[in-house]
Amino acid sequence: MTFEYAPAPESRSIVDIKAKYGHFIDGKFVTGKNHFATINPATEEVLSQIALGSVSDVDKAVAAAQKAYTKTWSKLSGKERGKYLYRIARILQERAREFAVLETLDNGKPIRETRDIDIPLVAAHFFYHAGWADKLDYAGLSKSPQPHGVAGQIIPWNFPLLMLAWKVAPALATGNTVVLKPSETTSLTALLFAQVCQEAELPDGVVNIVTGDGTTGSAIVNHPGIHKIAFTGSTEVGKKIARAIAGTEKKATLELGGKGANVVFDDAPIDEAVEGIVNGIFFNQGHVCCAGSRLILQEGIADEFIERLKVRMAKIRVGDPLDKNTDLGAINSREQLLKIQELAGVGDSEGAERWSPACNLSDKGFWFAPTIFTGVTQAHRIAREEIFGPVLSILTFRTPQEAIEKANNTPFGLSAGVWSEKGSRILWATQQLRAGVVWANTFNKFDPASPFGGYKESGWGREGGKHGLSAYLKEGK
Ligand code: NDP
Repeated sequence: MTFEYAPAPESRSIVDIKAKYGHFIDGKFVTGKNHFATINPATEEVLSQIALGSVSDVDKAVAAAQKAYTKTWSKLSGKERGKYLYRIARILQERAREFAVLETLDNGKPIRETRDIDIPLVAAHFFYHAGWADKLDYAGLSKSPQPHGVAGQIIPWNFPLLMLAWKVAPALATGNTVVLKPSETTSLTALLFAQVCQEAELPDGVVNIVTGDGTTGSAIVNHPGIHKIAFTGSTEVGKKIARAIAGTEKKATLELGGKGANVVFDDAPIDEAVEGIVNGIFFNQGHVCCAGSRLILQEGIADEFIERLKVRMAKIRVGDPLDKNTDLGAINSREQLLKIQELAGVGDSEGAERWSPACNLSDKGFWFAPTIFTGVTQAHRIAREEIFGPVLSILTFRTPQEAIEKANNTPFGLSAGVWSEKGSRILWATQQLRAGVVWANTFNKFDPASPFGGYKESGWGREGGKHGLSAYLKEGK
């Protein structure tokens, strides 16, 4: 039986998008010189004009952050800093619906996810770090830990406000000030967050937001007034940043790409595992660094599992991201869509077999149907490269050892999943998998108290939890 759903669009009247935005420097919005358009990827409608930050804009933001660090923020007690973080967290909760709608408009992800996952997690990060601000001496990190000074933070487009929270909350809790650059395709929620900083009466210059493109990001990385870099994005840009800061005293955390393996053993509860695989790769259109983009299935259950997966995928609703029924929204940009199309094409030409359920995709906007490839081998590019879209590559194995070897045979090491009924098998497998985060019988679960980060080309350092705090602190005298 299939149900007909009436559309249930969230009202967009709650958001007030200005025709043009400047930067947020020293507690004020300042005008930019050149601008570029930010669009709604579901409709290609131009939402606003965003300022392109120059070297001089970055200079001003770093100067404001340095002044705020020496004159105000480093002089406040942890308890006082914590009060500002609590205030920000509460305002974010009060304005949650506005943030959810704005994020969905600018990013293309379903309102169900921004409303139920992104924005609640954003508030949770501020609450969590507010609690740490006056307890840093007791975190077991070092004797009387001290902030670095000014943190340069560069974030991507897949979880725009959540990545801002992952970066800004620990930086402020530990006494650092911030210059942050959002991604050029998703700046709007960062600019709304700047309003929250004003509303919370955060001292001027503690948070500065300079919008722009890669040149703006590079100006932040290379600025001599920046003491610590926190970056999330592609491995390629992460390598550039590592090269740029080599030989300087700048500290860095790099959260880069992934090609997560979801290993399903033949004793796994199949329906739960199918649900977990769907969540692992189709959550957020697969624009997730820790996505379970490789399914590694035990041979004996492969045919049945793939059949059940297809039945489940046929029920994924693709369409208007503002519709509360939608499961899979728009691809964030034309550029990203082209990249997904190109790599899926490589999968076809290398001999893997593509399958997608029937989907009515709109002519306007950027769309890609949920897709699986079967008959994938280790040599295929779709088994090795990050597609960063709703595309799952399926491989099979016969012995547990083979599963682990296949799962670990990647330059990345960010996430993995294990599905089995046996606790001993789960414990064995999780210890063999070379990934920063390993989930068992679940996937894509996040919590501010839990450290997150990768091995190998997936990056340096951890964000979240006590480990994440240490990246923003140095040993006290
Ligand atoms: P990038 O790594 O290019 O961008 C991430 C951030 O870095 C953005 O704010 C970007 O600005 C900025 N940036 C770009 N070049 C530089 C530079 N030279 N110095 C400093 N900052 C820079 O990722 P993209 O957004 O272009 O996505 C490309 C691919 O990266 C995706 O297809 C995906 O595979 C991967 N990716 C991985 C993510 C993850 O979470 N691990 C997140 C996003 C992407 P701008 O947006 O203006 O270019």
